[in-house]
Amino acid sequence: MKRWPVLAFAFASLAFGTSIAIAAAEWQIIKVNGHDYLSVDNISKFYELPAEVVPSGAKIQAETANRPLEFVSGSREAIINGARSWLCFPVIEQNGKSLVTRTDLAKTIEPLLRPHRVPDVGKVQTVVLDPGHGGYDKGQMSRYGAEKDFALDVVRKLRPILQAKGFRVVMTREGDYFVPLEVRAKIANSARNSIFVSVHFNGSGDDPNATGFEIFSFTPRGAPSTSDSAISSRAYNMQPGSTVDAQSTALSACIYHSLLGHIPEYDRGIKRARFAVLRLTKVPAVLIEGGFLTERGESKLISNKDWREKLAGAIGVGIENYQALPIKKQPPMIVADYRRQTKSAPVEPVNQEGSVKEADASLLQLVGRSALLSQPQTQQQTSTPAPTASIESAPIVP
Ligand SMILES: [Zn+2]
Repeated sequence: MKRWPVLAFAFASLAFGTSIAIAAAEWQIIKVNGHDYLSVDNISKFYELPAEVVPSGAKIQAETANRPLEFVSGSREAIINGARSWLCFPVIEQNGKSLVTRTDLAKTIEPLLRPHRVPDVGKVQTVVLDPGHGGYDKGQMSRYGAEKDFALDVVRKLRPILQAKGFRVVMTREGDYFVPLEVRAKIANSARNSIFVSVHFNGSGDDPNATGFEIFSFTPRGAPSTSDSAISSRAYNMQPGSTVDAQSTALSACIYHSLLGHIPEYDRGIKRARFAVLRLTKVPAVLIEGGFLTERGESKLISNKDWREKLAGAIGVGIENYQALPIKKQPPMIVADYRRQTKSAPVEPVNQEGSVKEADASLLQLVGRSALLSQPQTQQQTSTPAPTASIESAPIVP
């Protein structure tokens, strides 16, 4: 096996001072076939969090994972803070080390572990709630009813919850009619300091037993979506990224941990997709899949209005925690915190900040450099217009 040099990461330290240059040296970029990787050990040391890599093919259960960071060799599946989270690229092995791409450190691990450090995170005046489907577009069906109706009901329940917390709330539809996806995105884009939260329910034609929650934010530039299996395709590099990628991932984390923490459903994970509403929104945006209408037990739960009220409440807490990130300056509550809280008397969120090092502007540097280095100059996130035609330019709603 060819040994690649381990490169100490050096900065133009003039502008940032020597302390940052020293911190920066803690990141050791490992080049593999021209791509930048970091070892799991390096990541574990940097965050001062234990990390484990389980063998290829192993299945990890988020419920039993007792480590903040757990990876599967050769896989994109990971556990971050006790919730399943999907990396853009698989973990690889090189010279006895498990390696994670720099893209995933910057785009997945950092915003999920420390959403409170994402620049401009938590700026929310208006929450744009988007009940999926509507009118002729029924979405998934169960014996109890249609996705479009359940989604609208959850959003109707969520609106007063958010208003009571002081948010301005706009709904992309108020009744049973279809609103074009680009119009939904436009509503979000035209509101000041808005976030976009789309509510859907799932269905599976292949697996009638499929259950659980999942949440999506827009796939980073140059990366495959979670559902893409051929991850070497050049097509991904043609896709635009999002300038609010990290904020959307932070929003995903806040809402998803609240969902799982309040409602004991199967953890399908924090995922990425290029759904039209996520692609067309220019503000932090997520799409929630609140369970499967094609599974007997779960479809019955979804048909229960009290359960939907609970779902709406959990989403509301997640949004509130997202807004609190820049105020509290500490990680939001994670699934274990919520479960502890619901088991006993309410407790204060666990402050993990004490266990995380302060001097790490180096990571911001890495995040910034990652965005610069992973793509040619012509594909800068901020300067690339939406493509006129792409494999995913057609309106897609899960
Ligand atoms: Zn849907």
